[in-house]
Amino acid sequence: MARIVVLGAGFAGLWAALGAARKRDEIGAPAADVQMLVVDPNTYHNSRVRNYDVDINDAAIPLVELLDPAGVDHRVAEVREIDPVKQHVSVTTNGGSEVIGYDRLVLALGSQLVRPAIPGLMSNGFDVDTYAAAVRLDRHLAGLGEQAVSEGLATVVIVGAGFTGIEVATEMPGKLEKAGLSGNRRIILVDPNPVVGETIGEQARPIVSEALAALGVETRLNVTVTSVDASSVTLSNAGAPFFLSLQARPSSSLGNRPPTFRLVVMVSHMFAKTEMISSNPQKKWNVLSNPFWGLLLRLNIHACQGATVEMHGVPFSSH
Ligand SMILES: Cc1cc2nc3c(=O)[nH]c(=O)nc-3n(C[C@H](O)[C@H](O)[C@H](O)COP(=O)(O)OP(=O)(O)OC[C@H]3O[C@@H](n4cnc5c(N)ncnc54)[C@H](O)[C@@H]3O)c2cc1C
Repeated sequence: MARIVVLGAGFAGLWAALGAARKRDEIGAPAADVQMLVVDPNTYHNSRVRNYDVDINDAAIPLVELLDPAGVDHRVAEVREIDPVKQHVSVTTNGGSEVIGYDRLVLALGSQLVRPAIPGLMSNGFDVDTYAAAVRLDRHLAGLGEQAVSEGLATVVIVGAGFTGIEVATEMPGKLEKAGLSGNRRIILVDPNPVVGETIGEQARPIVSEALAALGVETRLNVTVTSVDASSVTLSNAGAPFFLSLQARPSSSLGNRPPTFRLVVMVSHMFAKTEMISSNPQKKWNVLSNPFWGLLLRLNIHACQGATVEMHGVPFSSH
């Protein structure tokens, strides 16, 4: 029996496996003669393009539903090594290590989030690159929704105003509402570029801006995040750094279980009262930041008079 092994059950892996199965049917080859096997650590296909949806239930589709009807097998395993000479892949499963031989191999292991070397981002940020990360974000929002209403509870800052950041921002009102966080919500999109959607083209940009404005999404442009930790964040802007000195304890869950980042845009997950003081002495911000895509910081603007901006948050509760 010949075996075609497909590594990865993302869009590319699924397409390859189902395409091969269709071809097998077309040429009338018995399934017993040509085995198709998809290898992925998850029991589901993650439709990553849905990871920021208000309802992410459809973002994970059981592989059994997709592959079994086509006569494609799948193995829940992580690929560790490929030996093209011996024509086998080494994988780890819950039960230990395995070696899977192949006659043809399709490599569709996808992409991983680039993690900028921003100090503290790994241990204080969230993202929606994977279904698991999206679930974590939604759970976090749901937890916030159970808290007593407080200033800044429903304020989110998304850092990264590219495709994903824009989409996260436009879905965020629905997400907040679903979590019971619609009151006094603020969504702030931050990007180092001077415009939102730097790469999406001049024709699309006004439409995007219009949509963001209609949803009440604010923007802060020409801003970069230079560091994040459990108690502080530093932003810089054209050489004028903003220092955020957080004054509350970090999330214990984040501290113990650093999230993984797998996308270009990241989310900062911080639940601490923050004081941000810019190099401009007129600006003093108290910030309650939160985790999300691109880098979502929950900010609570306590007062804004002229050049003086204050953002107050509440101490982060444990969840
Ligand atoms: C939030 C978000 C929104 C997006 N929106 C859009 C959009 O609107 N339009 C668009 O065109 N694109 C969009 N994209 C990009 C699009 O999702 C990707 O281009 C596409 O998913 C890539 O598919 P893939 O199969 O190549 O890789 P992936 O989707 O990354 O799939 C790779 C698979 O390999 C598995 N894998 C990884 N390592 C191993 C290993 N060692 N062993 C076994 N399995 C492994 C993973 O579990 C995964 O199932 C978006 C991406 C994200 C994250």
